[in-house]
Amino acid sequence: MQNITHNYQAILNKIRLAEKKYHRAPNSVLCLAVSKTFATEALHPIIAIGQHEFAENYLQEALPKISALSGKNLVWHFIGHIQTNKCKEIAYNFSWVHTIFREKEANQLSMHRPQDLAPLQVCIQIKLDDSASSKNGLLPHEALPLAKHISQLPNLKLRGLMAIPPINTDFQQQRQYFKLIRNIGHQLSEAGIELDTYSMGMTHDLEAAIAEGATIVRVGQGIFGARA
Ligand SMILES: *Cc1c(COP(=O)(O)O)cnc(C)c1O
Repeated sequence: MQNITHNYQAILNKIRLAEKKYHRAPNSVLCLAVSKTFATEALHPIIAIGQHEFAENYLQEALPKISALSGKNLVWHFIGHIQTNKCKEIAYNFSWVHTIFREKEANQLSMHRPQDLAPLQVCIQIKLDDSASSKNGLLPHEALPLAKHISQLPNLKLRGLMAIPPINTDFQQQRQYFKLIRNIGHQLSEAGIELDTYSMGMTHDLEAAIAEGATIVRVGQGIFGARA
């Protein structure tokens, strides 16, 4: 547990230093703690020191944690593959969904979002290559039609773009991937779609993502340790 606190503070430091180094506004990058595979107890130490935003990939794993921590005023983000038959529960239990890339799931999420909750905050997932390992997401030129569609849905609020680039250890190459995502965002802006969120960067590439404009970095292992 002490490790988790220590790791978390080191990640926050890294984020704040990267903001400075790349001339980003102070505190403009949100650290989203990715708690998948870790038990509820692992979240307590960082909740105690101010972490409010958590992300999960699997609905069935997330629900017990969300319920156990319901008194803590946390904000839950869904960052996994969206199964159509899970849209209702996702729409009930999460504040954000980062991984929309088809109209079908967007429609379902909007339809099931409870009226007494704020609109579901959503990002469109972009993929940067067409390999089998990155089957989720839209190719860059496919983003605009879905963005326009989501903008018409009553209970979704389109906030931005999300991406998981191919693994690469070269810093400059990492930056190139994130720059492509930013460019897609600029193109959408020019087409009249307003975006304020770039959900990009994980433990191994968060600095490159911040250099290229990330507003949310999704950090799992860097905080909680290696996953089994
Ligand atoms: C697991 C996961 C992360 C966190 O990755 P780490 O390498 O643990 O930081 C971020 N985003 C998505 C979509 C994930 O599935």
